[in-house]
Amino acid sequence: MIRVIKLSVTGLLLSLSFFANAQWFTHSFEVMGTLSHVEFWLDEPTASQNDSGSVDKTNGNEKAQALIAQVEQEMFRIDQQMSPYKEQSELSLINREAANRAVTISAELFDLLIVAQHLSKISDGAFDITYASIGYQYNYRDKKRPSQAVISEALPAINYTAITLQKENSTVFFNHQGMKVDLGGIAKGYAVKRCLNLLKKAGVAHALVSAGGDTGLLGDRHGRPWLVGVKHPRAEHKMAVHIPLENEAISTSGDYERYFIEDGVRYHHIINPKTGDSARKVVSVSVIGKDPTYVDALSTTVFVKGLAEGLALINKLPEYEAIIIDNQQRLHYSKGLLQ
Ligand code: AMP
Ligand code: MG
Repeated sequence: MIRVIKLSVTGLLLSLSFFANAQWFTHSFEVMGTLSHVEFWLDEPTASQNDSGSVDKTNGNEKAQALIAQVEQEMFRIDQQMSPYKEQSELSLINREAANRAVTISAELFDLLIVAQHLSKISDGAFDITYASIGYQYNYRDKKRPSQAVISEALPAINYTAITLQKENSTVFFNHQGMKVDLGGIAKGYAVKRCLNLLKKAGVAHALVSAGGDTGLLGDRHGRPWLVGVKHPRAEHKMAVHIPLENEAISTSGDYERYFIEDGVRYHHIINPKTGDSARKVVSVSVIGKDPTYVDALSTTVFVKGLAEGLALINKLPEYEAIIIDNQQRLHYSKGLLQ
């Protein structure tokens, strides 16, 4: 009996090493306060077998390991630069100084601020990184929120038109005291985009990179589409829908990510810039399109706008589609997904 098992295990090992020169590599790690994941296919020489005899996918190949390290470093680099929680970040610097003087910033941050401003314009201010002027007063873990009096006083500081960006000197100036910005609605998508580009440049043709609810895909899953799940908004480990995708990005914004409930009201991390309160018209929005940065920002935007206005915006943008889950947990699709 034992001999039979031994024989079959050996047979399995032989067949694994036979196929091991082309395989999937996966790695998950925590960054930007969320779980990130990278997965790619590499047609490169041999994976190693570890002591227990199984193929070690993460450590099996030098090139794969180097790529995984680069992806991790890139995510951490962007976090160091754009986190509002790190005193040394460029973002913290502008939040401290830009209301007093024009602050010179990196071309990279400058360009992302330009994209954020563009999103604010096309969404009529539903996407607004200055939401943080009030947003920083919420603490979902400690169930803290600003009073209506505090919100009313700080509300004028939510105003993206008060951000002045000057291309020639690469400067940013806040034309309002007390104004703060936060890139939580766009930076993860940007990080996904950077990591996908890095893999593409290295010759990878099939990859998935995700940071929290933001996912970017290179190619297909080697002969079949990637199946990306949209979480069920009220059942933690369930999916509401699975979507087959190739060469696309998809971002989901949900009111279940960071929230607390007080007197039956859900306070969560997506803020309506017009009220300073959480947006409550829908419970989940996924946006699909080519550019991971835009789909990230657009999912937050459509969440704020709600079903009718959100779909109207997406239906005006031919390169983007949306799946919205409303308050009654009904699914709605943008035009391009219904054809
Ligand atoms: P996401 O999970 O991509 O929808 O992004 C949610 C994050 O976006 C929040 O945690 C905030 O950091 C940020 N955010 C919240 N409300 C807004 C808003 N109205 N405009 C831009 N960013 C926002
Ligand atoms: Mg988003």
